[in-house]
Amino acid sequence: MSNESTTRPVALVTGASRGIGRGIAMELARSGWNVGINYSSNTSAAHETVEAVRAAGGPGTEAHAVQANVATAANRKYLVDFMLTQFGRIDALINNAGVAPEKRVDLLETGEPSYERVMDINLKGPFFLTQLAARTMLELRKSGKIQRGYIVNISSVSAYAASINRGEYCLSKAGMSMLTALFAARLAQDEIGVYEVRPGVIATDMTVPAKEKYDKLIAEGLTPIRRWGTPEDIGRCVAAILRGDFPFSTGQVFDVDGGFHLRTL
Ligand code: NAP
Repeated sequence: MSNESTTRPVALVTGASRGIGRGIAMELARSGWNVGINYSSNTSAAHETVEAVRAAGGPGTEAHAVQANVATAANRKYLVDFMLTQFGRIDALINNAGVAPEKRVDLLETGEPSYERVMDINLKGPFFLTQLAARTMLELRKSGKIQRGYIVNISSVSAYAASINRGEYCLSKAGMSMLTALFAARLAQDEIGVYEVRPGVIATDMTVPAKEKYDKLIAEGLTPIRRWGTPEDIGRCVAAILRGDFPFSTGQVFDVDGGFHLRTL
């Protein structure tokens, strides 16, 4: 741990080796944050992200990769312990790691193994990691090591848009909205703000299998802003939240979806 790291705020971004998580880590580094880059198995992508994040943040920026499966209790504990050992503090948790079902199947055929995999990674993991991180932030605040904490949950338009061929994914994201509300209410008096960012269609590995479908839908006006979203779009939103400019808001949902949520006539 360098001296610098005790003065720069520290964020843990789950699922930051690729896609949206990498975009968030890059924007946070640009805004003066040190970042823990969590990932599941893609070590080379995680190390590339670490290098890119250090370069984006410039001299003094600390970034470290940490392999941990958010779905398991022992890994979540390891993750938070790693942050404290490596950086000495944790000011923000970004619950971004998430998976789509391995196969899209009709709701009437959804199997329990896929349901459990998606719910464990997308909802159970963030719930218990938030619990652990919040407890840690409360202790850090008590000892004066941090002033304020942030928890940002990356949900999806799937929190409210029903896709009947990936019901388990939609359920996990709807659950994440309640997770946001619950922890926002619980931590409101403790200077820990809890927020939800709802991405629309974002160009990442996750959406590669549906690229042609979304190209067509976007061209036809699925989103009032007719383009794919980028990891940078989401990263800029998270960085704005973590700048601390919304001190009288908590539980707030930020739609970063090109206007997908609008009802138009
Ligand atoms: P992605 O490109 O597939 O990247 C997924 C990331 O999560 C990777 O870093 C992966 O690590 C990590 N990960 C997967 N399982 C994990 C686990 N059990 N523990 C820890 N890390 C794990 O996905 P993405 O498109 O960036 O999506 C990021 C988040 O945004 C997800 O929660 C997703 O549901 C949400 N989202 C995405 C879109 C979209 O259009 N792309 C839209 C709305 C919401 P490895 O590299 O090691 O595999």
